[in-house]
Amino acid sequence: MPRPIQAIIHPHALTHNLNIARQHMPDSRVFAVVKANAYGHGIERVYDAFKSADGFALLDLAEAQRIRALGWTGRILLLEGIFSFQDLYVCAEQDLSFSLHSHHQVAWLKQFDALGHHAVRFDVYLKMNSGMNRLGFTPEDYREIWQELIQLQCVGSITHMMHFSDADGERFGERGIDYQVTVFERTIEGLPGERSLCNSAAILRYSSNIHSDVIRSGIMLYGSSPDYPTHSIQDWNLKPTMSLRSEIIAIQTIKKGQSVGYGSQFIAPEDMQIGIVACGYADGYQRISPTGTPILVHSIRTQTLGRVSMDMLAVDLRKVESAHVGSEVVLWGYSSQGTVLAIDDVANSAGTVSYELMCGVTRRVQFSIDNNTF
Ligand SMILES: *Cc1c(COP(=O)(O)O)cnc(C)c1O
Repeated sequence: MPRPIQAIIHPHALTHNLNIARQHMPDSRVFAVVKANAYGHGIERVYDAFKSADGFALLDLAEAQRIRALGWTGRILLLEGIFSFQDLYVCAEQDLSFSLHSHHQVAWLKQFDALGHHAVRFDVYLKMNSGMNRLGFTPEDYREIWQELIQLQCVGSITHMMHFSDADGERFGERGIDYQVTVFERTIEGLPGERSLCNSAAILRYSSNIHSDVIRSGIMLYGSSPDYPTHSIQDWNLKPTMSLRSEIIAIQTIKKGQSVGYGSQFIAPEDMQIGIVACGYADGYQRISPTGTPILVHSIRTQTLGRVSMDMLAVDLRKVESAHVGSEVVLWGYSSQGTVLAIDDVANSAGTVSYELMCGVTRRVQFSIDNNTF
């Protein structure tokens, strides 16, 4: 028998969450962000559930080609754009749209254009650095670059693009989108072309404040609240899309004062039963998760105890008298009974975000697809 840990993908939940994005901004085209192998879910495992999207957005040419191989003929957007001149040939051949965020990329495009590839028309997303200071042209350069691009034969359309740094909260006491939206609007004033601004947090929180022809929904599609703990997935009506489940493989009855695991980090405050779970940091469960990290045993919410080891962790069974060897344990997601442990709760306890947990499930964990609904 294989070790009992497994990751289960829930396609109905993926589609449900995509529909939530659509409901928030019904006049926008929804691109499903599937970078990092669909936030760790596996591009091939999410593809069918996202087929009703208006496009896919990702970073990697190889991932774009995997989507084409699945039969997708619609839009694909490369969020970080091209990494070399040669990439333009792949974009032409695979019909990929890409962002342009830096001068060196524009130079490659001009070089390509000068070679006279007459049949090629790229849809480019001109990225503005509206304040995040990661990628994009400064407002000072933006209009000049736009002017240069409209003169290139190989440019079919130019979409104005930016990315929010603080759509999930405040910035210096102000609404976190305002400083960037103001810069963006001022810079593109009077220029034709569509716009793409919103990530998940902006879609959910500011749908009525922002005009974004193309929205780029990522984390919300994967059943995580972008502004947790202000809002939970229940608040946004999102459903978990990945369940990490394992089993109890041993039970220990320990006395008050005895310790558990490496470094004796947990000391029993009373005589108690603990369960040992087949899940550790080599499966992608964060080692830094402290005692008290939420976890389900038999669909009952309890807590981890002591240090996470490479292949195992310990759980508190005081509230789970029914537990036995073989009992189902949910690290995050749904139990087989449909009880939810939000990945946001687990990530928060480990001092990180759900993105990192989803992307971090390791190769030794078997994935499967569950077509049931909860
Ligand atoms: C990752 C990414 C998104 C999606 O962000 P979420 O917070 O996951 O919704 C959108 N736009 C860009 C440019 C990104 O890199």
